[in-house]
Amino acid sequence: MNCLICFDELQVGDTWFSFLLPTYTKAVCAHCDQTLQRIQGVLCMCCGRMQATSSSESEVMCEDCRTWRRLADPLRCNRSLYIYNDEMKRHMNRFKFRGDVAIATAFGPELRALFWHSFRDYTPVPIPLSAERLKERGFNQSEVLADLLQVPFQPLLARRHTEKQSKKSKWERMNTENPFFLSNEVVRGKKYVLIDDIYTTGVTLRQAASILCKYGAVEVAALTLCRG
Ligand SMILES: [Zn+2]
Ligand SMILES: [Zn+2]
Repeated sequence: MNCLICFDELQVGDTWFSFLLPTYTKAVCAHCDQTLQRIQGVLCMCCGRMQATSSSESEVMCEDCRTWRRLADPLRCNRSLYIYNDEMKRHMNRFKFRGDVAIATAFGPELRALFWHSFRDYTPVPIPLSAERLKERGFNQSEVLADLLQVPFQPLLARRHTEKQSKKSKWERMNTENPFFLSNEVVRGKKYVLIDDIYTTGVTLRQAASILCKYGAVEVAALTLCRG
């Protein structure tokens, strides 16, 4: 077996975990594993960002999320696995822009574990790409991640092609035209969890969540691989 990130042969010490828990096979060598910065400790109860607090308080909310809440936040919460550090940027670059879909499978076991821990009664909904972007890239990275959960997901959303609006603040962007629209029926009263690669400002996920809420979802959360 080889490491899914650097392709070096895995040493016995790297895979001991798999003898104990066959469903949690380590697919990454010890060196690559060290480059993954896991999100842990005290988190913002809403967006899942790590909080610099030594208190043992379990209900902490970051400044950003307090503002979202005042604006009637459609997103219940977000949980991410890893910090979007330089190494993760390189991994994501290989995955998204060079089409190395195999690297994503390295994150499968932990992504599944987080799904079962936090979102077991939610139906996964991958964030779609616009038709233009899908043609250019050849695959949707969010669908690849949703596939890794090994539970049926629902492609409920589609997306219009829009230009990047980086000059606007996130609060302003929330009020611009929503690029998402419904492509399949939302089941009324159901809980959905949006799947995406990165939580950056949270605007994209909130725009998608607002559509699902509008059409009857009782609750919408997000599960993302990385936190910017
Ligand atoms: Zn490696
Ligand atoms: Zn927050």
